[in-house]
Amino acid sequence: MRKLAILGSTGSIGTQALAVIREHKDIEVETLTCQGNIDLLEKQIREFSPKTVCVGDEKKAKDLREKTRDLPSFSICVGKEGLIESAAAADAEMVLTAVVGMVGVEPTIEAVKAGKDIALANKETLVCAGHLIMPLAKDRGVKILPVDSEHSAIFQCLQGNEENRIAKILLTASGGPFYGKTKEDLRTVTLEDALKHPNWSMGRKITVDSATMVNKGLEVLEATHLFSVDVRQIQVVIQPKSIIHSMVEFEDGAVMAQLGTPDMRLPIQYALYYPKRRTLSGDRLDFAALTDLTFGVPDEKTFPALSFAREAAERKGNLPTILNAANEYAVGLFLEKRISFPAICEMIRSAMDGVRFRPEAALSDILETERETREFLEGRS
Ligand code: MG
Repeated sequence: MRKLAILGSTGSIGTQALAVIREHKDIEVETLTCQGNIDLLEKQIREFSPKTVCVGDEKKAKDLREKTRDLPSFSICVGKEGLIESAAAADAEMVLTAVVGMVGVEPTIEAVKAGKDIALANKETLVCAGHLIMPLAKDRGVKILPVDSEHSAIFQCLQGNEENRIAKILLTASGGPFYGKTKEDLRTVTLEDALKHPNWSMGRKITVDSATMVNKGLEVLEATHLFSVDVRQIQVVIQPKSIIHSMVEFEDGAVMAQLGTPDMRLPIQYALYYPKRRTLSGDRLDFAALTDLTFGVPDEKTFPALSFAREAAERKGNLPTILNAANEYAVGLFLEKRISFPAICEMIRSAMDGVRFRPEAALSDILETERETREFLEGRS
């Protein structure tokens, strides 16, 4: 049985991964981690009997211990150190990184160093540290299997094409809930509006990122690392229904695409069982009913995040980290209703212009840049 650690088991990706595992019953869950939702974590522990769990702080650990006193013993670790420990030390052969944000950077690096394959749902990690993680994974013979639906689609299109060069990646985007809106319209949109994604059911942070198009920007950066392509080879295509999950154009002009209903369980399952395809319950695409498969061009005047991401991909260094850390900070404020929707991209822009640029970005630079970006924005808000 394949042994798996899930970092971020109570979030959207974590719970859907456990749904996949529940269906097939042939993956052993070694480790579960979460920040604070210990009620759900307790249920998961009772169902999947992990050997190790990790929670955000000592108080949560104590409460969890209390709740699970009747169960056979398992170890509980705590905080960022505990998360790193969980990623690297358990018996797992594969780690699903489904935490939100660049808190995933260090655990992912340690898991790769420990020789574990990575099912990567945590895009912020590759955005900030892809230049460190991809060579390290190659060196350790570790697979980085994308769970992000677009990158899974690209990865699926590349199967059997190892000898063929990618001419272009066509990264699809739904456009989010505000597709078609003007700058003027965006001034008055609310948090509730931003959290209504037209197609995908996802966590709150990524749903806001989809509304700003920052998510697509981060995905552009993620793709440069995963598929070793230049940012100029990536074209973002609006496909509002999220039926085409992304495409690859080869040198002869042939375009391969992966299509399906918008269901995150598919890319999760594909990564967990790679290279095997397994049955998956749920709706299938009905081409007889598919009458309006339309395409569009992103509106970068209204949604500048894509151009920020391209700039970060060109200049490299710590600029992708500045972009990402500023976004994490700003989205945190937006989720607390403390800033307006357009302020998210304004804060990212000001951090990209104002935080010290470092052409080299070792792990220590990345962590310091995150701190500097937060301090910079705190000083301005
Ligand atoms: Mg995606």
